Amino acid sequence: MKVVQIPLLRDNYGYLIVCQKTNTAAIVDPSESEPVLRRIEQENVTLTAILNTHHHRDHTGGNEGLLAGNKLEVYGHKSDQGRIPGLTRGVEEGDDITVGELRGKVLFIPGHTTGHVAYLFDNNLFCGDTLFTAGCGRLFEGTAEQMQASLKKLMALPDETKVYCGHEYTESNLRFAMTLEPKNHKLVSRLERVQALRARGLSTVPSTIEEEKHTNPFLRWESKEIQARLKNRTPDLRIDPVSVFAQVRKLKDAF
Ligand code: ZN
Ligand code: FE
Repeated sequence: MKVVQIPLLRDNYGYLIVCQKTNTAAIVDPSESEPVLRRIEQENVTLTAILNTHHHRDHTGGNEGLLAGNKLEVYGHKSDQGRIPGLTRGVEEGDDITVGELRGKVLFIPGHTTGHVAYLFDNNLFCGDTLFTAGCGRLFEGTAEQMQASLKKLMALPDETKVYCGHEYTESNLRFAMTLEPKNHKLVSRLERVQALRARGLSTVPSTIEEEKHTNPFLRWESKEIQARLKNRTPDLRIDPVSVFAQVRKLKDAF
């Protein structure tokens, strides 16, 4: 399989998942249709499906334009019927997805929204606005408990899993991470690498699950350095995974 990253809007990414045996493709989170159509033409593939991770407009805004004159399956969580334009395949945890001869799986990961899903094809994870490179999505509809459980589910994937998220937010996410864990050497060197890429206008996505486990503050509820720093500012904070995660999310909201 081949993954084609398409920059959309200001800082969104859509992804073409291409089955090279059949020359068919699915598009993950088309924020807008025009750049996606152009890329499909360049790649010379036939689009068969839209895979939406959640209902937000910056992830579904291209659905209608892609559906005009095309017969496509539109995947999204079954609870998002009526919120995802053109939804034909309401899915849930564990469902199988087919793109040409490629097989993918649905992971249900609520928190950012109540109907958020990820799509996993081999070692490629398309996780929308749940897990970001060095960050995570805001809690718009779900609770901290839900989000922490969703992130924990993603952390259980193999270390080499590639993380294809919905936005290019890595640099500012890492600057926030540095306020909580400045002694984490892997974090310091990741920030340097990311700044060098951004200075050249290059993408910092995908990362890997391994890199996220080592440097993403929203996955590091076990970090003694983060725990100590939070406890310093908020002495009555309980030290358990959900409370630590919720406090990091709260600080990031105000960053
Ligand atoms: Zn979103
Ligand atoms: Fe988004």
